[in-house]
Amino acid sequence: MPHNTTVIAVSKGQPVSAITPLLLSGHRHFAENRVQEAEEKWPALKTRYPDVVLHMIGPLQTNKARKAVALFDVIQTLDREELAKELAKEMARQGRDLPCFIQVNTGQEPQKAGVSPQHAADFLKYCREIHGLQVTGLMCIPPAEENPAPHFAFLNELARRLGLRDLSMGMSKDYETAKRFGATYVRLGQAIFGERQG
Ligand SMILES: *Cc1c(COP(=O)(O)O)cnc(C)c1O
Repeated sequence: MPHNTTVIAVSKGQPVSAITPLLLSGHRHFAENRVQEAEEKWPALKTRYPDVVLHMIGPLQTNKARKAVALFDVIQTLDREELAKELAKEMARQGRDLPCFIQVNTGQEPQKAGVSPQHAADFLKYCREIHGLQVTGLMCIPPAEENPAPHFAFLNELARRLGLRDLSMGMSKDYETAKRFGATYVRLGQAIFGERQG
């Protein structure tokens, strides 16, 4: 099935001086993985470039929900009930109905965030029916040591089954594969900015 893939520039660890040239060239989708870092860099940039779409791609603590809803435009790491509840509460309070992606732990890694694949359907229902969240897609980070292709294929199939249109999958080293498996968003850090320090 033909689809468009939007490139998200992952600007974590990058100074504003590295981000500005991309904004000047017209790029508008960016991602950060920490609320505090986003808060230091983005409010000023968003004043100058109001059409920026800032994606949250890191683990989100419930006590950061207020700031996250104010700063970000898409939440890609929705993965548990208390977080759904806090995000919904803040969105109502701030009058911001942000699109959310459910993060799925496709590799079932104990240390990794994300709902387990078998709970995705129930969790989607919970987010929508109990909290009215606008869930539009799924996101995954496959295990670092594995071939990502089966994970991307699986996420695509799961999204199709759940009737979700967006698939955020693929990073610098595997985005071509992710595109082949239907990614609508790829998240590129080092491929755009070069190697990160640390
Ligand atoms: C850092 C990060 C990326 C980008 O990784 P690169 O290898 O630099 O492309 C993508 N997704 C998430 C969730 C990340 O934390």
